[in-house]
Amino acid sequence: MQKSILILNSGSSSIKYKLYDMDGEFVLASGLVERIGEAAGKAYHRVSGENGIREIELSQSFTDHRQAFDHIFGVLGNPGLSAIGHRVVHGGEQFHCPVLIDDEVIEAIRANIPLAPLHNPSNLLGIEIARELYTDTPQVAVFDTAFHQTLPAVAWCYAVPREWYERHHVRRYGFHGTSHAYVAKVAARLMGRPLESLNLITLHLGNGASITALREGRSVDTSMGMTPLEGLIMGTRSGDLDPSIVFYLERTCGLGAEEVERLLNHESGLKGICGSNDMRAIHKASDAGDHIAQLAIDMFCYRIRKYIGAYLAVLGKVDALVFTGGIGENDPLVREQVCKGLEGLGLVLDPGKNQRRCKESTSLHGSHGPIAIYRIPTDEELEIARQTLTCIEDGCG
Ligand code: AMP
Repeated sequence: MQKSILILNSGSSSIKYKLYDMDGEFVLASGLVERIGEAAGKAYHRVSGENGIREIELSQSFTDHRQAFDHIFGVLGNPGLSAIGHRVVHGGEQFHCPVLIDDEVIEAIRANIPLAPLHNPSNLLGIEIARELYTDTPQVAVFDTAFHQTLPAVAWCYAVPREWYERHHVRRYGFHGTSHAYVAKVAARLMGRPLESLNLITLHLGNGASITALREGRSVDTSMGMTPLEGLIMGTRSGDLDPSIVFYLERTCGLGAEEVERLLNHESGLKGICGSNDMRAIHKASDAGDHIAQLAIDMFCYRIRKYIGAYLAVLGKVDALVFTGGIGENDPLVREQVCKGLEGLGLVLDPGKNQRRCKESTSLHGSHGPIAIYRIPTDEELEIARQTLTCIEDGCG
């Protein structure tokens, strides 16, 4: 029987899905409903069938998630699902791996809402609707945070009153776990070695950005913290900054906590520095002589280099550095600037390989570099589908 797995990513105003036949890991259908709750909603679907691939694009308003799900399930028909895998952003400390969803799991995801108020409620809504519509189909939750539950206390503790952790769960959790896990496995395959034998640094550089240090295949440090705001400079998030800035703004400009949170998450990062969070547009502006756009690129790369240096020190010995995400996969200039000057630390980029454009995973290191460098397209949905299948076949955990 065909093993069909549906992956759902239910966000606050959009729902993305992908339907896989896991026997050959083929994508049977994929799509997106966006601007849910707005007057001008949109839906895109790409469905493969006996007569080839059908593409559907609709402008239609979707009043709520339920209506959007009804629409998606209407397009998919009855695909005879083996399981549904749900992306869930925050699993707190309870979830170290994917889990089969039951009432208890739902309550635990609900309990983590204060840690991810923007994401967990819409993830949960997707789970609840899918459970109502597919009562007999096993449903699995795959958490962005789970991969980083192997962090040692020195990496996950903040130097704040212990009570903040004990009573309020204030600690570093890390995110982008499925992406880091996926590219680490691909890197191990490319190197022809078991993941458990490798020390890696994986760089996810997209609109969100994070870097992870893996010792013997397990995450031992990562740049995002209690929330995805910490760490690298991102499209619209500041990354690391002095927390006193928040109190200073409150005192001097009268800005409230909510407004500062919005500014740091949505108006900072590359956008805050130069007005755009689209790296392609920033390169264009810089090429046209815009110094602030060049500063944004320089700051973006400088922060990454600081973290690479830190993680080389954390790991002691590193086998490979991996670039992924929209920028990591497609931007040779950023990769070059990130690696420049790190040759003495073992990172030697081959300029020719770095410039070559292709869709597949490729090595980018020169022949003398002791640390391998890879460009690996991430595939979070496939990783969620694989983890979902493993969870229903072999049990979770
Ligand atoms: P993601 O969030 O992974 O989709 O990545 C989005 C980021 O990737 C945006 O900053 C895009 O400008 C950037 N990006 C996508 N394609 C390219 C490209 N060919 N060159 C440079 N940046 C790119």
